[in-house]
Amino acid sequence: MMKDLPNVFGSMVFNDHVMKERLPKETYAALKKTMSDGRSLDKNIANVVANAMKDWAIEKGVTHFTHWFQPMTGITAEKHDSFISPTGEGGVIMEFSGKELVKGEPDASSFPSGGLRATFEARGYTAWDPTAYAFIKDDTLCIPTVFCAYGGEALDKKTPLMRSMQVINKEALRILRLFGNTDATRVTTTVGPEQEYFLVDKALYEQREDLVFCGRTLFGAKPPKGQEMEDHYFGTIKPRVAAFMKDLDEELWKLGILAKTEHNEVAPAQHELAPIFDNTNTATDHNQLTMEMMKKVADRHGLTCLLHEKPFAGVNGSGKHNNWSISTNTGVNLLEPGDSPSENAQFLLFLSAVIKAVDEYQDLLRISVASAGNDHRLGANEAPPAIISVFLGDELTEILESIENGTAYCQKEKQEMKVGVHTLPRFPRDSTDRNRTSPFAFTGNKFEFRMLGSSLSISGPNVVLNTIVAEELRQFAEVLESSQDFTHDLNELIKKTIKEHKRIVFNGNNYSDEWVKEAEKRGLLNLKSTADALPYFISDKNVELFTRHKIFTAAEMHSRYEILMENYCKTLHIEALTMVEMIRKQILPAVLAYQNDLSESALRKHKLGGDISCEFEMGLLQKLSGLTASLSKKADQLDRALTEAKDFVDIKAQADFYKDTVFTLMGGTRAVADDLEVSVGESYWPYPTYGKLLFYV
Ligand code: ADP
Ligand code: MG
Repeated sequence: MMKDLPNVFGSMVFNDHVMKERLPKETYAALKKTMSDGRSLDKNIANVVANAMKDWAIEKGVTHFTHWFQPMTGITAEKHDSFISPTGEGGVIMEFSGKELVKGEPDASSFPSGGLRATFEARGYTAWDPTAYAFIKDDTLCIPTVFCAYGGEALDKKTPLMRSMQVINKEALRILRLFGNTDATRVTTTVGPEQEYFLVDKALYEQREDLVFCGRTLFGAKPPKGQEMEDHYFGTIKPRVAAFMKDLDEELWKLGILAKTEHNEVAPAQHELAPIFDNTNTATDHNQLTMEMMKKVADRHGLTCLLHEKPFAGVNGSGKHNNWSISTNTGVNLLEPGDSPSENAQFLLFLSAVIKAVDEYQDLLRISVASAGNDHRLGANEAPPAIISVFLGDELTEILESIENGTAYCQKEKQEMKVGVHTLPRFPRDSTDRNRTSPFAFTGNKFEFRMLGSSLSISGPNVVLNTIVAEELRQFAEVLESSQDFTHDLNELIKKTIKEHKRIVFNGNNYSDEWVKEAEKRGLLNLKSTADALPYFISDKNVELFTRHKIFTAAEMHSRYEILMENYCKTLHIEALTMVEMIRKQILPAVLAYQNDLSESALRKHKLGGDISCEFEMGLLQKLSGLTASLSKKADQLDRALTEAKDFVDIKAQADFYKDTVFTLMGGTRAVADDLEVSVGESYWPYPTYGKLLFYV
């Protein structure tokens, strides 16, 4: 397989190579033009492309096709149709028309729309995104599509992402033109998402309702060993896991996904996969496929892949690092310091735009990673805090300070730092002052946004990043396009931006309590939970931003807000229900059985007479009786709270109730159950322990 890699890589993708080979020259040229200009495809061309796709797919054993899309559920959706078409003489032929390629009408009324479809049109439709390649998965030809309502309102995660990429393209090009760049015709953002996950034994997984229903454990006493020995991180990979990784890599390579690094993570049973970066649209599709493949391949190996942000209490949760940069189609990374003073002036301007964007839209970045699952991580000293800040490193910070103050910036050149005069040092990519605690860190030629939860679609965070940086570039372009003295005004603009937004720069330890206090002094937001963060989404400032750039309409924003809030409430509701059920049907009966055996033993001893002690049985019975009474009471309380939760009309009040009441009750309930777990004999306990789940893969 490895020897064959060049042939295997992308073998299931209708990529440029295949198109060139299989399409007539004119069709290929027209399709490429559509792809680069984002125009709609002529019907005749669509027919030719569809036919070529079908022939290619059939040669690979494919019988069905599907429009593959990314609804607001956060996972991908597909509806399979076969190529079969009756000939009228009792036979069939395999057909796939341009019309079927370009547009689909899934009966998709059950996807979340936050009231959008009710307000506009009942049906949604899918439309081919010709900028993403079609691919074969499970013997099905998958056509990447956007999913919209008939009024054009976006019902998915791909549409706003594509819109945001257009916007940053437009605004970044304006800036490049100001620097005299006339050859770049397209600017795209690039992303490399590093994906963390857990692998557990499938048979053990299936014995735990909490894992099956919620993707995370709701109970579980700490095992004698956790991650304290730090012996898992980058450790030798166990054979069973290695076999999984090999298989996964092969599946991903077939799909043209550049899976590059696989290693063990900090927590036991935790691993990471890093791909090579790609344009943001492709990277997003590929990350969705990667998560799907992780689950499928794990299953084949008798394993279950957990993508939840916090499957286990007491050991690290899983995140996703969104490495993000901006590049031109001429191959220039705009977040990399260049070799000439002019290139560096440009770099500093883009850098300033990012700093200003992150400061002004802290709320949106926080919201873009908000979910019930991720609430367990952010601020829990294993992931960045809920406070947004930017890490630049000492060198770059010093350079910015000297620009701001007009002072000497380095020992060697005791000269005033002026933009457009000096050459900046290139920052070593593996510089040791890497700050692992920062939510948003500059890493030499890109930013690493580290707050994403492991199960999240990377679409949302990148929609926000692209749009907020585009907005700042727009503002900069407005100032500089009307400038009479470009170098002077550029210098002033950068100076002013640093002065006004340096509060967002923080190079210290983000996990420390001092930072929380310091951040408050600086006036930075600290939105601790999803319920606290989400309402900021629909503030005037943010509606103004997204509508100005036509990323979302106000109605689309409100619908998304509703969907996210509902999702938060539903998640906690399901978790609490699962908890109650596990207590009543599994934990309490198990403890009773143990208590019975204890009483039985005590009784027998008693009957034997003499002075045999029943102290152990009696002591333990006493303790268990107390704990079971308490646990059963707590389950009743939780149950009542869930009934109460249903009565809220206002979604924000409801979310707050889930956060403040339901979630708090869950914590107290779990503590009692975990106490019981350590006191009850292992053979009685109704589900596998943390020790088994984490160390027996
Ligand atoms: P580092 O040494 O900074 O960790 P790596 O090369 O290991 O850098 O990259 C980490 C992740 O960042 C990888 O997924 C990689 O593909 C991605 N990455 C590298 N360069 C870029 C870029 N210009 N844009 C987006 N992602 C990038
Ligand atoms: Mg990383």
